[in-house]
Amino acid sequence: MGADVTGVSRRAYAKSRGISEAVVRKYLSQGKLSDALLPDGTLDVEKADQLLAASITRDRAQPVELRTAKARHLRAKVRRVGDAVRDLERSLVHADRVGPIASVVGIIVANALRPIAERMAPIIAGMNGKDAHLALRNAVSDALEIISSTIVAGVDGAKGGEERELELDELSEPQLLAVQANLQADKLELERALAKGILCQVADVVEAHEEQMVVSKTLVLAMPGRVAPHAESETAEQLKVRITEEIKDALAAGPPVEVRDENQLAGPFAELAGQEVLRRALIESSRAINRPPPRMSVPDWADAYRSLSTSAGAVGGPWQTHRVEVARGPMMAVTEPDVETITIMCCTQTMKTSVLENTLGYFAHLDPAPMLVLQPKDEMADAFSKERIAPMIASSPALRAIMGDRRTRTGADTLRFKKFPGGFLAMASAGSPSNLAMRAIRIVLLDEIDKYETSKEGDPVALAEERTATFTTNRLSIRACSPTWEETSRIYKSYMEGDQRKPFVNCPHCGHAQVLDFFAHVGWNKNEDGSHRPETGHIHCEACGAEWSEAERLKIVSTKHAIQHRQTKVFHCCGSRQDPLIERRWEWDDEHQVGYAICKECGRRGVPNRHASFWASKLYSPFISVAGLVEKWLSAQGDQDTKQTFYNTQLGVPFKAETHRAIDAHSLAARAEPYDGTKELPEGVVVLTAGVDVQSMGATGQGRLEVEVVGWGLGEESWSIAIAAFEGDPASPQVWSQLDQLLMAPYKHPLGFNLYLAGACIDSGGHNAQDVYRFVRERSGGNIWAIKGTNADRGVNWSPIWPDATQERPKQRYRTGYRPTIVGVNAAKWAVHQQLLVDEPGPGYCHFPTGRPDNWYHQLTSEELLIERKDGVEQRRWKLRKSMLNEALDCRVYAYAALNGLYQVHQLNLEKQAASLFRNAAELARQQYGTAEVRVEPRRRTIRHSLD
Ligand SMILES: [Zn+2]
Ligand SMILES: [Zn+2]
Repeated sequence: MGADVTGVSRRAYAKSRGISEAVVRKYLSQGKLSDALLPDGTLDVEKADQLLAASITRDRAQPVELRTAKARHLRAKVRRVGDAVRDLERSLVHADRVGPIASVVGIIVANALRPIAERMAPIIAGMNGKDAHLALRNAVSDALEIISSTIVAGVDGAKGGEERELELDELSEPQLLAVQANLQADKLELERALAKGILCQVADVVEAHEEQMVVSKTLVLAMPGRVAPHAESETAEQLKVRITEEIKDALAAGPPVEVRDENQLAGPFAELAGQEVLRRALIESSRAINRPPPRMSVPDWADAYRSLSTSAGAVGGPWQTHRVEVARGPMMAVTEPDVETITIMCCTQTMKTSVLENTLGYFAHLDPAPMLVLQPKDEMADAFSKERIAPMIASSPALRAIMGDRRTRTGADTLRFKKFPGGFLAMASAGSPSNLAMRAIRIVLLDEIDKYETSKEGDPVALAEERTATFTTNRLSIRACSPTWEETSRIYKSYMEGDQRKPFVNCPHCGHAQVLDFFAHVGWNKNEDGSHRPETGHIHCEACGAEWSEAERLKIVSTKHAIQHRQTKVFHCCGSRQDPLIERRWEWDDEHQVGYAICKECGRRGVPNRHASFWASKLYSPFISVAGLVEKWLSAQGDQDTKQTFYNTQLGVPFKAETHRAIDAHSLAARAEPYDGTKELPEGVVVLTAGVDVQSMGATGQGRLEVEVVGWGLGEESWSIAIAAFEGDPASPQVWSQLDQLLMAPYKHPLGFNLYLAGACIDSGGHNAQDVYRFVRERSGGNIWAIKGTNADRGVNWSPIWPDATQERPKQRYRTGYRPTIVGVNAAKWAVHQQLLVDEPGPGYCHFPTGRPDNWYHQLTSEELLIERKDGVEQRRWKLRKSMLNEALDCRVYAYAALNGLYQVHQLNLEKQAASLFRNAAELARQQYGTAEVRVEPRRRTIRHSLD
């Protein structure tokens, strides 16, 4: 075969001949096309045509021209153009006709609303505000009901847009070509008219219409609240004017209400299918929007309409709110009158997500509105959509009907944007504020607000809530998060601003209502030797002292209405300061499941409920036992970070850091011990590192290198071994050779061997970076690292002390442009700070030798951690105290960074290191003294370990 003969694939051949691939395969298997098969498995087109023609002729015993396949091909092409034209016709509408079509809805709305003024004014005149409000609200509700049902009739009566199929089968090839040309001309014309504005997109019109409808309805719903207060003081005539004005304003915001003769508007494309599509879409969305707000609570909605999805995506049975009863309170607050903001400060995995999900589902289904979910990061917004919203829609038929149907999806639907009749759900990240400035939103759900970062535009919480300004009377903002640090936690601040509801439960033994507090109500037993027995963890009643069994607790936390959320915010009334937790006076509202704090004197409510704030700890969770919680608490001891995690994620309360406990330079100096590590190391030292601070010559002309050598033992207990300052210009080799001597020196260990420095970090952040690189390059094998402090630290997100292995410097060390290791100095300072706070020898404790100048201790404690909120976001930064130097601290921080470098780069393990050193010492001793009796063991100590 010549190289010029190339075949086509079976698929391509089948396609080009208008037959299916299966047919080609069949012919091949029957041997009919064997002669056309090329060695590479492709088909020789010409030969295949001949064989196929012959074979078909033989099979059917009638002449079939090849032109038939070509004609079929042409027909398919024409049909495609036809489809495109039809799609255009269905998606476009004549701009002149939008008004008349929309006014069909507008007129229904106006006819239902206008009579309210005439009818209600005489009824409410003279009524008190509360009764008038109720009467007007019912009238509005009735009117919306009428609108909704009238529109239903409208949609049923609307004529269906039948689709006509192109009849092409009887056409000859020239005729087909003519049809194709015509269709292409139609298509062009439609596109030109769209560009000129003669036509417009149905989807755009529907969106604008829905926005109008929503604003219009909001104004109607606000009317009772604005008119009712005047009912007692104004005449029926005055009230009628007032109601008329309010309704006029509402109608002005909605679709057009003027009648025009639709038939007189006969421009080109008068008969576009899009007009019918638009009519149906407007009616459908208007019906959804105009439903009066439901008299149903969110938990009842979830119980009735939600199913749980299993991890496999299957339906896992009906939702039951009482399974995690503590979540009922915040869900009830969604429909509680006057509540505008809900704050949920809670431990992980109790109520936050379910409240957010059910609120979304409730509004999408029953009270459609524009909604926004804000997550701290883009990835989290995507994950919320995929892992929360998608399964909820898939497993709940009511939601699937409005949000899950592929056919009703508009082009606007994406992972971050779900459209449904009367509203949409947008998911955005607080990190991209431009997302926020788009549209008016009625319901904002702000998730993980302690993790939001403030941008140039401002605080994301404020920005998002500003979007709700249009919806003055029925907007809602839910803020949710586990708290972080007390000083800066957004959610904690928000909780304190709110009415501070707490979950009360009744003791199963004495009936006393109390708020479960881990530190006040949880106890456990100890063994005789004083060790803890977390498995005995239990709750005891604050009134009768009875121990609750785990079964009793579980029953409470998963029984409908067994938990009562009551306001606990301190208030002033009748001249006295009243603390609801002390006065214990509440008015229980059974319909909305909330205990309003009331004044002990006048009996009136003392705390406004505009901002309902909720809190819950894991003691209200059915997913963890009290014993399990005690175990977590016990293992969090001794470590500030794990303790903080316990407070935040288990107790749902903010953590007050002990960082502000100032480290006192004098008390550090006072505990100096008489050892000289340069002569003999303390016995506990198993690894030596050094930190070097480089001071450039600068204006003072006083350049120098400052060094500290630190010995590290088990649990990062440390001994300062040596400090040194080499005066001179770091650009000259002299100071570096002095440093070299120090770094290479042996240190005598009391067990008979020498220890050498295992690693050192040299600051290369100043003017002498190149000098540092040169020094380090020459000692590339020795774990001497040139480092720079990271500048990636922002807010509370600090970089790790040592970069991950993946971010390690490039292997080519000799390339120009040596890259220093980027060290998380903030985090390293934090660790050193924590060590300096340890005041008992043992893990983390810092030993100092006698003879250090006072100034050195002052430098070591020269910086303090400032926690502040800047532009709404938490900032933690180290601040040098007034007119102090900090070189000693820097050296210590770099020495600690070097230890972390050894962990990361050489998998150093202090315990293993100690064991091997002591084994070597024993071996050494055996060789020297010829006895196997020498037993040297490290002192037993608990090593700090981190918890997950
Ligand atoms: Zn009791
Ligand atoms: Zn009072």
